Amino acid sequence: MNDLGDIVAVMIGVAVDTPFSYKVPFSMELTIGSIVLVPLGTRQVFGVVWGKPKDNKAHNRLKDISKKFDTLPLSKELMQTIDFVADYTLAKKGMVLRACLPDIKSLNKPSPITAYQLSGKKAERQTNARTKVIDLLANGMAWSKSAIVKETKVSPSVIKGLLEQGVLAKVDLPAPAFIKSPDPDFAPLELNKEQKAALENLRNQEEGFCVTLLDGVTGGGKTEVFFERVADCLKAEKQALILLPEIALTNMFIKRFTKRFGVEPAQWHSGLSASQRSKTWRAVMDGSARVVIGARSALFLPFNQLSLIVVDEEHDGAYKQSDGINYSARDMAIVRAKFADAKIILSSATPSIESKSNALSKKYQHVLLKTRFANAKLPDIKIIDMKQDGSQKEHWIAPALLEEIDKTIKRKEQVLLFLNRRGYAPMTLCRSCGYQFQCENCSTWMVEHRQAHILMCHHCGKTISKPKICPQCEKPDCLTPVGPGIERISQEVKELFPSARQIVLSSDLGSPEQIKQSLSEIENGDYDIIIGTQLIAKGHHFEMLTLVGVIDADLGLAHGDPRAGEKTFQILTQVSGRSGRAKKSGKAYLQTFFPDHPVMLAMKAQDSEAFYAYEIKVRKEGGLPPFGRLAALIISASSHDDATNYARSLLLSAPKPTNLKNSDDLKIFGPADAPLTLIRGRYRVRILIQSEKTFDLSGYVRFWLKIANKPKGNIKVQVDIDPMSFH
Ligand code: ADP
Ligand code: ZN
Repeated sequence: MNDLGDIVAVMIGVAVDTPFSYKVPFSMELTIGSIVLVPLGTRQVFGVVWGKPKDNKAHNRLKDISKKFDTLPLSKELMQTIDFVADYTLAKKGMVLRACLPDIKSLNKPSPITAYQLSGKKAERQTNARTKVIDLLANGMAWSKSAIVKETKVSPSVIKGLLEQGVLAKVDLPAPAFIKSPDPDFAPLELNKEQKAALENLRNQEEGFCVTLLDGVTGGGKTEVFFERVADCLKAEKQALILLPEIALTNMFIKRFTKRFGVEPAQWHSGLSASQRSKTWRAVMDGSARVVIGARSALFLPFNQLSLIVVDEEHDGAYKQSDGINYSARDMAIVRAKFADAKIILSSATPSIESKSNALSKKYQHVLLKTRFANAKLPDIKIIDMKQDGSQKEHWIAPALLEEIDKTIKRKEQVLLFLNRRGYAPMTLCRSCGYQFQCENCSTWMVEHRQAHILMCHHCGKTISKPKICPQCEKPDCLTPVGPGIERISQEVKELFPSARQIVLSSDLGSPEQIKQSLSEIENGDYDIIIGTQLIAKGHHFEMLTLVGVIDADLGLAHGDPRAGEKTFQILTQVSGRSGRAKKSGKAYLQTFFPDHPVMLAMKAQDSEAFYAYEIKVRKEGGLPPFGRLAALIISASSHDDATNYARSLLLSAPKPTNLKNSDDLKIFGPADAPLTLIRGRYRVRILIQSEKTFDLSGYVRFWLKIANKPKGNIKVQVDIDPMSFH
């Protein structure tokens, strides 16, 4: 028997919202959080004991819990986080729980390892090989077969022979401990004055939950500062989690971590094998993994002593997951920190408007690093007005930038040309009849990838080989690429700087391993000109890079997205920040058709505070986050009419809350066609809901969908609370 009684409520890892009741078999010891296996129909599924059942009805038809796994229970704070995430995002609670549990196999205790020890019996006949093995084991330690072979270079048959003679005895060793703990004293850097002050600020915070925005220029040494907080955490024998927005950044980060702490941290991301995942999950659970570096899903790992979360590049849109559970890992990390009574540091050179405004209003602590480390200067920024000083026809690099590239490579320094567009040309047009290649599944152009001789949709991945004649007028030699992608910039560079060593980098060009290799070649100075997308814009530190050219600084501004200005400012700041990070000072040239846009003015004046003040004012006036709240309903169907008609009926059933002070406190916009109306063969229509800040928007949307007619056929409704993307 246990405190919970003989019937418990078990939350199972399938698409349900409430726990089910199960009987506890005699002699099974359970607590809240115990991980169990239960029957569901004809299947066995895993679940977690959530508490006592709500009702006390007759339970004679209930089934027994099949098994309790041999792991620690989920912590209360993780269970609270699951409840919160499900309530907030409207995801099914069972699905959020599933994100916290590994597969059933990894819940079973790993099998012990067979090892060999000396039994005390002498060998019948000594050979050279046998002596080697016996010498190795002489100190009484047990070794696995593979370790013995590796160390002594004898053949496995030698071990077999010794075992048969009884010279060696088999013993079971527990599976090896996960990894060595990082050492907080391994190689701490001497911090400069500003870093020390920032660290003191962080250390002087009161016990318990606290959100800090670590707000510092690119290259300001933020990483080194939060590493010291990780060290503090290690010294206190607690666990720390560092979230990164993208796997592409992990390798470099791990290298840095290892240099500082002597040992690699545990990692968590989609690139791990199943066995690595299960090992890591268990190690986080039992506390042997002290520090985890991971992508957003690491948020759901079963820490039991979590005392610090760092969200690096907190402004990054990649923290928002938009399939499955629609959650913002940054925001939910704050929630988890709160339940765990832990500290959380949001780090960025270009914070989100939300975090910046919360820091300015003192809701968050605000810690600043204003100067670059070792007095490296921020780059000089030049704005090129493409209307006046643009490039020649069918060329994309303006003369002023060309001249600067020339000077830079003559000085044997590196140039980065940034364009956030993969492929050769974003659109292909028939010069003769005007035909434009569009994706048949999406409302997008097919992007030419010249190296691969294909046209490709960047939304659904559909590819066709590039035709020789126009599919409409059937004339040959009339298909023309329109506009540049990075491959086309590469061609221009080749033409104008034939002897420069150049490399083109984007996520589709090479495996993660190859990209890693290319990045280290760049670090080694093997290239003069680097042409790249987003992949290269953030995080990297190339000492020889002193010129950044942004081919199309306006690319992000075009969207009808309330965050367009913010996102553009962030990416331009990040990419310019790659220039002049070490001893040499750097420059950045931004090519734009809107030199008077507030974003370009703020970039030019290097006045981020002015930009934030402007954007915060705009948000405040518009009642946009963080001054108000947004939610989106995305209705999709394989026919446009079905999607629109259902969206209209949904709108008619929108409840009218009675507790609002002003009629303005809740506004509903739409339904309207999504900017990308057709994606992967489905038409999409959006409804946007805006409310004042304290309104329970999640609760409202839940109630609305509950009373509305359910969608039929292939119509789907997706809920996106705090939407980041408005496609
Ligand atoms: P940020 O995270 O703010 O962009 P980093 O922490 O990456 O800045 O620091 C920029 C560069 O300066 C890195 O190469 C880092 O190793 C170096 N650096 C930062 N602080 C120190 C320090 N106290 N001592 C030596 N090098 C440092
Ligand atoms: Zn497509």
